[in-house]
Order: sequence, then C-alpha cells, then structure tokens
Amino acid sequence: MGMTASNSTALIDRFGRRVDYIRLSITDRCDFRCVYCMGEDMTFLPREEVLSLEECARLVRVFVSMGVQKVRITGGEPLVRKNALWLFEQIGTLPGLREQVLTTNGSQLDQYATQLKAAGVHRINISLDSLDAERFRKITRVGDLTKVLRGIEAARAAGFQHTKLNCVLMRGINDDEAPALVQFAIDKQLDIAFIEEMPLGEVNHSRGSSCVSNDETLQQLQQRYTLVSSTETTGGPARYWRIPGTETRVGFISPHSHNFCEACNRVRITCKGELYLCLGQEDMVDLMPLLRNHPDDDAPLRAAILNAMGIKPKGHDFDLRRAEPAVVRFMSMTGG
Ligand code: SAM
Ligand code: SF4
Repeated sequence: MGMTASNSTALIDRFGRRVDYIRLSITDRCDFRCVYCMGEDMTFLPREEVLSLEECARLVRVFVSMGVQKVRITGGEPLVRKNALWLFEQIGTLPGLREQVLTTNGSQLDQYATQLKAAGVHRINISLDSLDAERFRKITRVGDLTKVLRGIEAARAAGFQHTKLNCVLMRGINDDEAPALVQFAIDKQLDIAFIEEMPLGEVNHSRGSSCVSNDETLQQLQQRYTLVSSTETTGGPARYWRIPGTETRVGFISPHSHNFCEACNRVRITCKGELYLCLGQEDMVDLMPLLRNHPDDDAPLRAAILNAMGIKPKGHDFDLRRAEPAVVRFMSMTGG
C-alpha cells in the first residue's frame, strides 16, 4: 500500500514508548538442543500452524509501513528454514527499513554468509557458549563447534562487521570461560554479549542456582582486562563496556533487572504469528487469523497491531525465587 508512518499509525504504547523494532521468529525448529532453551525431545509445530515465508514477509512489510525501522530474524534456528534466503531478500528491499539483522547459532553460516550479505542483512549475532568442543557439545547436546567457528569466519569473510557473539554462562558448566570468550572476540574483532539465563520454558535444568550474574562475570573480566563503561545503547537491555586498544565491545544483558523496561522499543512475533508485547509477560495478540482471513486486505491486521500497543505492559515479571518459570514459553518460540 506504500503507506508511510504518520502519527496516526505510529506504534506508540500507553507509556509513550515508540515501538520501532520487531523480532520475528521464523521457525521453532533447530539443529541444536541447547540445555537452557529446549528439552531433549522436542515436538515441533505442524507446518500449517507456522507462518509461511510469504506471511512473514507481509507482516514485516506492514510493521515497516507503521514505522518499524529494525527487524531481527530469529527462531529456533532461522537458517534451517527452507528458502529462508528468499525472506531476507524480500525484507532487504523494503524502503524505510534501517536495519535487518539476524540471530543464529552459526551452524549454517559457512554456507549462507555471502548470500545473506547480498540479500541485505546488515549484522549478525552468533550464539557461542564455549570454545571447548566437548563442552559445546554438552551445552548444545548435538552441536559441532568446528562448524560454528567456520561460520564465524565465513561471516567475517563475507564482510559482516560488528558481528556479536551471544553467550549464556551456566554455573559449573562454562562459567569459567568468560575471559577466553572475550579474548576470542578481541582476536576476531567481534563484539560479545553475556546474557543472563532467563526462566523460560520447562527446561530440565535447574535455575536460580545455575544463573551466573553479570556482575560476577564483569568482576571476572576485570581481573584480566581494563573495561571502560560506555554510554552506548542499542535501545535494548544491554550495558556496554569497551576494552581500550581493541575493536571489541562487551555487553551485559540482564533480563532480571527492570531498568531497561522504560526504554523498551520492541515487540516479538512468534513463528505462529503471535504478537508478544513483552518477553516476560503473557499479553499477546494472535495475528495469524488476520493474515489468513484477510489475504488481500491489510487493514484488519494494521488495526490489530495498533490496538495491541494499548496492552504493552510496563515491564516484565521474572522472579528466580519462584519454583515455576514465570513464562512457560520456549525461547525458540518467541525468539531470543
Ligand atoms: N538459534 C539462534 C541462536 O541460538 O542464536 C536464534 C534463537 S535463540 C532462542 C536466541 C538467543 O536466545 C541465543 O543467544 C540463546 O543463547 C538465547 N537463549 C535461549 N534460551 C535462553 C534462556 N533461557 N535464557 C537466556 N538466553 C536464552
Ligand atoms: Fe537452537 Fe538457538 Fe535454542 Fe540453541 S538457543 S536450541 S541454537 S534456538
């Protein structure tokens, strides 16, 4: 329809926050089974319950026409979705979109990095929790570290800059690896972010006791590196530090602190077309019926998205002391 965002369509919630960033999960499937993310035996959604790539493209186009400037494609593992490149190409042509970014486990990057760059993907986040092949296998249950390292090289060779590693540290599993991972990031000129483990999904692995706080990681890193606090922000829940003399930024993502909710600029869409207004809350609008019942008319979809702004909650409600996870949704559904 070629509409641009006007005040009447801009996505502004009850608290005056402007939503200009969407994260879209394009599959719940994955070639890994990371212990903090999935169970060992997963039942994945039947194909007809998952957004088609055309539906994904349509959703992104509509959101961009409503003022969204940044799109992150995630999953599950987005690169295991057949024909995913087609979607990246479609998104790459949208006028008004400032950034198309991808979160991946890196296992397929060796094969796709060059094509992703050509399709208009601007930046990539790659998850990497260990540099030890055996540990890597334990954490991902099935992953091959060598393949991921090749993927990281391929991203560099394809010309991606500011590639960021995402690491989840777990007590007694890889909590001693922060310095080695940071050194790897420095050597490869990558950014790196440490994500505190979030209580999502019914994962067979105890929380609370295993969650390594970012303060602890920071202290560990400060024994080896000079870290200079940076005021840079990506509009997300990350605090950044720089290591003088290097290209590397070190980020800390603390979902357990509330202080980022005030600046929250994002919403998430699951691979089933559910629009989640907050990672830690249940408030959701199902966009799938609107997509399927009105294949040629975006108006109902646009109205539902605008209305959804009215239920975006003020903040999340994670509490590690609770026995049950606050939100029983797997990260692979919502996208990280
Ligand atoms: N498969 C891709 C990957 O691993 O990067 C994209 C999807 S994955 C769900 C996105 C991010 O969420 C990953 O960096 C992963 O480490 C993180 N993640 C998954 N479960 C998590 C949890 N329970 N707490 C914190 N981070 C989690
Ligand atoms: Fe797959 Fe990413 Fe979840 Fe690991 S974190 S199981 S790679 S979706």
